[in-house]
Amino acid sequence: MPRYDYTCQTCAKPFGVRMSIAEYGDGVTPACPTCGSADVARHFAAVNVLTGSRATGGGAACGPTGFS
Ligand SMILES: [Zn+2]
Repeated sequence: MPRYDYTCQTCAKPFGVRMSIAEYGDGVTPACPTCGSADVARHFAAVNVLTGSRATGGGAACGPTGFS
């Protein structure tokens, strides 16, 4: 069973949860084990974050062409 890493948005504590892919696919969101908050954010792989920010920030709208 895969492990998913989350960070609580209320108390900022990271925690890991084991759940099946089926449960994850159903959108099951675990509660924070520290404070019980359901306001948690999933950790994404660093590769995905870097790729996403580069794709967003490299747009032509705010590129060098704006200065010419
Ligand atoms: Zn918490």
